[in-house]
Amino acid sequence: MNDCLFCKIAAGEIPSDKVYEDEDVLAFRDIAPQAPVHVLVIPKKHVSGWYDAQGESDAALAKLMRAAAAVAKMENLVESGFRVVSNCGPDAQQSVLHLHLHVLGGRAMSGTMV
Ligand code: AMP
Repeated sequence: MNDCLFCKIAAGEIPSDKVYEDEDVLAFRDIAPQAPVHVLVIPKKHVSGWYDAQGESDAALAKLMRAAAAVAKMENLVESGFRVVSNCGPDAQQSVLHLHLHVLGGRAMSGTMV
């Protein structure tokens, strides 16, 4: 049995506020937004993180990044700017072990990295 939260969201078993969806990718609003726009972009297929993602095709990974850019456009962040963040592993405080990109925008970010 797959207990992954984001797999359940991708399968529609747990509701989400969807922003974008295609056959491989889902984007939905973060439940605890850290900025006026905070959207998570995930592959529908379970991939635990960036190391696991080495087993994925270049096309699948590119699709994830293209979806993040599409979300930024849909959320009107292209002019103002936005940040794309992906946490991997304990030191990065990844809390959901299903690969995801955070698309953050709608306010000026502080700092450049951490
Ligand atoms: P990370 O800490 O980088 O693994 O990011 C996981 C993100 O998932 C956090 O920003 C959480 O707020 C978010 N999150 C957890 N549960 C849900 C949920 N049910 N719907 C939307 N976002 C969620």
